[in-house]
Amino acid sequence: MSKPIEVRNPRTGKFDYVIVPPPPKLLSQQCHRLRRGQIIWQKLGVEGRITALKAWKQVILSERTLLTEALVSDTGRLSTSIIEVDSFISSIDKWCNLAPQLLQGTAKNTSIPFIALQQTAVPYALVGVISPWNFPLLLSTIDTIPALLAGCAVIVKPSEITPRFVAPLMTTLNTIPQLRDVLNFVEGAGQTGADLIEDVDLICFTGSIETGHLVAEAAAQKFIPAFLELGGKDPAIVLESADLDLATSAILWASVANTGQSCSAIERIYVAESIFEEFYHQLVTKAHQLKLAYPTIESGEIGPIISEKQAAIINDHLQDAISKGAVIHCGGKVEELGGGWWCRPTVITKVSHSMKIMTEETFGPIMPVMPFSTIEEAINLANDCIYGLSAAVFTQSEELAIEVADKIEAGVISINDAGLTSLINEGERNAFKFSGLGGSRIGTIGLKRFLRKKALLIKTNSNKDPWWFNDEV
Ligand code: NAD
Repeated sequence: MSKPIEVRNPRTGKFDYVIVPPPPKLLSQQCHRLRRGQIIWQKLGVEGRITALKAWKQVILSERTLLTEALVSDTGRLSTSIIEVDSFISSIDKWCNLAPQLLQGTAKNTSIPFIALQQTAVPYALVGVISPWNFPLLLSTIDTIPALLAGCAVIVKPSEITPRFVAPLMTTLNTIPQLRDVLNFVEGAGQTGADLIEDVDLICFTGSIETGHLVAEAAAQKFIPAFLELGGKDPAIVLESADLDLATSAILWASVANTGQSCSAIERIYVAESIFEEFYHQLVTKAHQLKLAYPTIESGEIGPIISEKQAAIINDHLQDAISKGAVIHCGGKVEELGGGWWCRPTVITKVSHSMKIMTEETFGPIMPVMPFSTIEEAINLANDCIYGLSAAVFTQSEELAIEVADKIEAGVISINDAGLTSLINEGERNAFKFSGLGGSRIGTIGLKRFLRKKALLIKTNSNKDPWWFNDEV
């Protein structure tokens, strides 16, 4: 029997939920069961798999309230949880619509006239998904749905910090026998994640760089593909000609949505020095309008910091910046209210790259603003970071925006908006630098990551080969 793990409630600080990780032997048995189910699942064909997923969707819709309530308890925030459930449901529709075409084999000629090619693809039998706590449902299903449609079985290990949504989701899953045989969510912490990698054929990991290293090493030992979606420290560059009202609204949203607990949150803002003062004054005015979702969950827009460990990191980054001369214009501290950890939208100036707040992932509603004098300096500052997830550029010249965007080392650049990466499902993107590794999960290619390509090379005439057999003696 594994040791139970107590789970903290982000609003009350009370440990009011318990999970019991499966012992390694039981986990292996579960993986074995899923592998057996996968053989039938693959044979079912894409239309059969779509039928099963659509049936699951109907059950989820009928149990949506319970699922949302569990997610709200996990995260302490309401409207984002509702959006998260909606996005999960619509992702089932999206992938069901795309899958038939994506899974079609093709027949082609080759460079040799009498050899035809049939291009097919074979799903990896068992895919492992390990996910973080900031969007618990969305990030544990974002790879799961396309992998299932590709014909794989999937085992998911969500974060031990936000596991309450698993029980209602499993209740819905258990009503669809075909899916129950190929999909399972297991509870547990890092050790269960590490054990799971030992039993799968491909691993999709979303989480920190630190854990990403461990996952990549374990996958390399096993010689299995690892898709890593890791942290970010997204910059926004605001050029002199930018529409300030638009820029401050977009940047504020992208910095503080989900309390800044998003890999693609804007965490550094570089502003042309001629508009610097006006920019941060506007940002402060708008930031003041946002309220904490406390004492009630509907009191405001800013939810609690979900992870206690993250609250300590945010506090550490703030203290480090303040001790090095940063000036706080609003917010500025992590406070305990009713047992939860909270941080108001925080605008900071007099910051530099000697501070953690400008170089390490903070994952809170923090907006450090720094002036620049030339565009080249702004680009250098944006690239002076180990992360390369996404970024934003604001200017009224689209041509200049694209020129700047081309020079930023990141996989997605929003132009005259920010944080679009979390809203747009089209457009393939790779993480740069330490923000990740492997093919794009976004765009139709996301599903193809779960297939191994197979070429059938078919001889279409009856000539013997190689050529020397044709020289009759
Ligand atoms: P984390 O790395 O601490 O944990 C992520 C998951 O890995 C959890 O389920 C955890 O139990 C598991 N884990 C821990 N040790 C493991 C091990 N040795 N082997 C296998 N699994 C192990 O990350 P977190 O704090 O939960 O999440 C926050 C991080 O996730 C941030 O850095 C954030 O930027 C990143 N993130 C990235 C994206 C993206 O798409 N790039 C999206 C969301 C979050």
